[in-house]
Amino acid sequence: MGLPPARPGQVIGSAGPTTSSHKEIMDCIFCQIVAGKIPSEILYQDEEVIAFRDVNPQAPTHLIIIPKRHIPSLAHLSEAETPLIGHMVNIANQLAKREGISESGYRLAMNCGEQGGQLVPHLHLHLVGGRKLSNALG
Ligand code: 5GP
Ligand code: ZN
Repeated sequence: MGLPPARPGQVIGSAGPTTSSHKEIMDCIFCQIVAGKIPSEILYQDEEVIAFRDVNPQAPTHLIIIPKRHIPSLAHLSEAETPLIGHMVNIANQLAKREGISESGYRLAMNCGEQGGQLVPHLHLHLVGGRKLSNALG
């Protein structure tokens, strides 16, 4: 169902969390990192999220922050789950400080779907920095 036209101040409702199939989760690289089945350099974790270094870094600092729960992409995020994104951004900001790039600057990016450049179908936030990044966004 598409987004209804909104009146000013109107709150638009959304469906509850999407459920993923068992196979989708078993096949997911990032779920396997969460389960410790694929080794990675884990830099932070709590009940909701985990952060690790990207295996193929695009810059001196390239970290990935993901929810532990399998959510395929931003397009599958329910309205009730949106606070999770704020939590992920907060963790990314803390990690940027720890990496020493808070002052020099960095980029947070979330790719969504095929045309958005998403290769791993588990919601994730890229934290990239440590050099002057290109301005290309699309
Ligand atoms: P996407 O293109 O889906 O936004 O980005 C996926 C990212 O995950 C890529 O930057 C890729 O290098 C990273 N990645 C893919 N597989 C693994 C893995 O097994 N371990 C780690 N640490 N990163 C991975
Ligand atoms: Zn997953």
